[in-house]
Amino acid sequence: LNSLTIAVVGAGPAGLATGLFLNRAGHRVTIFERFDKPAPVGSGLILQPTGLTVLGALGLYDEIMALGSRIDRLYGADASSGRTVLDVRYDAQRSARFGLAVHRAALFGVLHRAVLAEGIAIETGVDLDAIDTSGGQARLSGLKGPSGTFDLVVDASGSRSKLRRACSHAEEPRPLPYGAFWASLSWRGEGFEESALVQRYDRASVMIGVLPIGRPSAGAEKMAAFFWSLKPDDADKVRAEGLDAWKERVVGLWPECRAYTDQIETFDQLTLARYGHHTLKLPIGQRLAIIGDAAHSTSPQLGQGANMALLDAAALAHALERSQGIDDALEAYARARRTHVRVFQALSFMFTPFYQSDSTVLPFLRDRLVATIAKIPPVPQFLASMVAGTAVDPFKGAGLEERDWSAAASQAAIDAGNRSG
Ligand SMILES: Cc1cc2nc3c(=O)[nH]c(=O)nc-3n(C[C@H](O)[C@H](O)[C@H](O)COP(=O)(O)OP(=O)(O)OC[C@H]3O[C@@H](n4cnc5c(N)ncnc54)[C@H](O)[C@@H]3O)c2cc1C
Repeated sequence: LNSLTIAVVGAGPAGLATGLFLNRAGHRVTIFERFDKPAPVGSGLILQPTGLTVLGALGLYDEIMALGSRIDRLYGADASSGRTVLDVRYDAQRSARFGLAVHRAALFGVLHRAVLAEGIAIETGVDLDAIDTSGGQARLSGLKGPSGTFDLVVDASGSRSKLRRACSHAEEPRPLPYGAFWASLSWRGEGFEESALVQRYDRASVMIGVLPIGRPSAGAEKMAAFFWSLKPDDADKVRAEGLDAWKERVVGLWPECRAYTDQIETFDQLTLARYGHHTLKLPIGQRLAIIGDAAHSTSPQLGQGANMALLDAAALAHALERSQGIDDALEAYARARRTHVRVFQALSFMFTPFYQSDSTVLPFLRDRLVATIAKIPPVPQFLASMVAGTAVDPFKGAGLEERDWSAAASQAAIDAGNRSG
């Protein structure tokens, strides 16, 4: 299939990547975004080998590598005893693999610049929430802005999608008990590893994390994402107790964090993130493909969301390229992503309470049993493949081949990025 008229709703990672893939395949693409100015939301995230492979297929690998911070391992310890609870190394499954932690603005900037450079239309300030396919074509409508008729609509409007109600198996995210305060702060190296996500836990009710995320844009200073997990319902209580009381708690559990808490002067610097979980049984409808968080949302515990969104984009483009009709293409897309999405959504749902819940049993098992088992092969390899997003093959269905991680170019790009500021 080519030369279709396609509407992509949402200019997040899923929508922007889809715009690029489909424009290059010869379709006429318009991206619609609710905000007046497309902009990234949130703090930082880890691009896994999966997401990096998709960006590589889009020719954006060197650009993102120059901005992000290479992550070789995820390390977590119990806050009071200092005992290691989690130590997952990317290269345990395949040598030279790694993740790349990025500021959201860096990922957004790299994709958005490419979209603008290719002259793909972006209409902003357009909030689309309904699709009508009764006349043969897809007609979009919404609260604000123009619409039109399209051969195909791609719903990339994130976890609060309204468009997905058009698909017969629509399901809304169920709120998870824990969310987090997130802040993007200046990177401080003392006591922290620059190539690791480092966390401290107190049972599963407290989780503090520091993730080096590189630079939001070329020449900007290096930053870190700092997070403190809490129940969204408790946020007001924490605010009422005052910033100093909260900082004292953080530093009491993890003294080195003073380098970060010292940068926080008001609660306004802490964004409260709420998490939900849902997986659409079939992420397609009449002339409608649902991708990214609109199709499946979860807690960021396994760090797969943006990567799955990028894989969805690649898989949809691959399905359209290989199919004769739109219905066939939509079915091929759903089939291609089915196993990977389901397995990772299930893993995320299963693992999250070990790190974010009121349970005392699960963190006890995590600290005693899991920490020990995690050292016995093949468990380190499995954990690495879970974090990398490769525990089931993510590439074939999306028409991708995994990158060659040993390529010297990757390190050179990082070195260049590190030198430039
Ligand atoms: C705190 C936090 C930490 C995370 N950490 C990680 C991590 O480490 N690794 C990882 O891979 N993922 C992580 N995630 C998940 C990741 O952010 C999401 O999975 C990813 O952003 C999904 O991309 P998306 O393009 O599908 O949706 P979004 O990024 O939500 O983009 C949706 C876009 O659609 C627009 N939109 C919404 N409604 C409409 C409408 N009606 N009309 C027009 N436009 C609309 C929105 O304004 C937005 O621009 C994290 C999430 C959170 C909240």
